[in-house]
Amino acid sequence: MKITGVTTSTMVVPNGPPVNTFYAANTYVIARIETDAGIEGLGYTMLVGGMGAGAVRAYLKENIAPLIVGADPLQIGGIWQSMYENDRGLRKKGIPVYAMSAIDIGLWDILGKAVDRPVWHLFGAHSERVPVYGSGGFLSYSVDGIVAEAEAFQALGCRHYKFKLGLENVMENVDRVRRVREALGDNMEILVDANQRWDVATNIRVGRALEDYNLYWYEEPVLADNIAQCAEVAAAITIPVATGENEYTRYGFRDLIDARAAQYLNPDIHRCGGFSEMMKISHLAAAYDVKIAPHLVPELSIHVLVSIPNAALVEVLAGSPDDLWEHPPTIVDGHMAAPDRPGHGMNFSADAVKRYTAD
Ligand SMILES: [Mg+2]
Repeated sequence: MKITGVTTSTMVVPNGPPVNTFYAANTYVIARIETDAGIEGLGYTMLVGGMGAGAVRAYLKENIAPLIVGADPLQIGGIWQSMYENDRGLRKKGIPVYAMSAIDIGLWDILGKAVDRPVWHLFGAHSERVPVYGSGGFLSYSVDGIVAEAEAFQALGCRHYKFKLGLENVMENVDRVRRVREALGDNMEILVDANQRWDVATNIRVGRALEDYNLYWYEEPVLADNIAQCAEVAAAITIPVATGENEYTRYGFRDLIDARAAQYLNPDIHRCGGFSEMMKISHLAAAYDVKIAPHLVPELSIHVLVSIPNAALVEVLAGSPDDLWEHPPTIVDGHMAAPDRPGHGMNFSADAVKRYTAD
């Protein structure tokens, strides 16, 4: 089989409330990989808030597409490595890896379609479904709003819910957690996310003050670039630390593991290098008994999660658009199952393509 072309496009997909108070829309950069066998692979990568989308698309068109046209799409590892080594002047963090991830996702889609199997079968299935955690609780929410959102996920059978820390008055965050815990009781696991907002001292102060509330994890305490500081926080508080949504490739995750920066890793399949690299990161983490709970993109991450021994949770964000997919991912009894369709099994709905395609 040969790759005959790569067609790129962009979809701007509005977010629902309350995510839209922070990011009006997310941009999907799409790479449709055509082959001489008539099989098309759908690769895509999502830029939160649309930031960097133009650069990702340009990198895809100008630097990656010419490299892979003519290659055998079933040689996924070889193509991944050639994209990685394509240039020595751009480190594989940020824009280039978003673009590489889209191609890797499209190549696995082609392989699955070629053998008529879902991607997770090809990875060596480990389980059929993974618990979902409901995610939301932005800083603009009232405590009642947070509790209502958690209860909506609870009604779907979910036992885990995450909300944000980062209100300017530090002790107000602690009070928020106390009130949410009191309202939800002990039936719901609570996860909190600081989104890199605080320094080490503030995180340790907040983390220690939260130790009485039985939290599942404490996410992204410090700036993602400062792994040593994340490790400092992890060593100083008893709540398990989670991080990694802003990390790239196996090398970045090796550094997080080496530093003992977190007990849970949150690779994002659009940032870390696609299916291929997320599998490698997951296996690397398994050797250290570190668990994997990917950042967003549940419809693709689920293929990895059901194929690894160290899967923790799959994230579903409140307010995700429900008209984007032909077959939207669903929550059944608090869990998500991997699709039984060939390839990664995802297709944008015809309506979404019509409504959201920007160029
Ligand atoms: Mg986060």
